[in-house]
Amino acid sequence: MDPQEAKRQLLVLRARLLEQDEALSESLGISLEEESGEESSDQHSADVAAVTLTREMDLSLRSTIEHLLAQVDRALEKIEEGTYGLCDRCGAPIEESRLQAVPEATLCLEHQRALERQEEI
Ligand SMILES: [Zn+2]
Repeated sequence: MDPQEAKRQLLVLRARLLEQDEALSESLGISLEEESGEESSDQHSADVAAVTLTREMDLSLRSTIEHLLAQVDRALEKIEEGTYGLCDRCGAPIEESRLQAVPEATLCLEHQRALERQEEI
């Protein structure tokens, strides 16, 4: 994978993630106001539950986006460092086909899986 091509893709991805992050922040801000306005009535409790559920989904989506953004930034750093395409843990080359599908990958498959196992706990 050509680092310059990877950089181009990462910058596009980064701009898209920032846009989504901003849109989510806005939607989270709005639902917060809606919720505080509902306090006195109970006939809208189903609506409030829906808003709360949406909020939870937005919050979890936002944490996914922020996680991805951090990874994109790290991949961009690696391009500058000249270590792009090499695993951050062991330095082994990351599979070419994987970099094409996931240009923000900063770990080899083995260490990516190890990290995901840790996060599940
Ligand atoms: Zn590794």
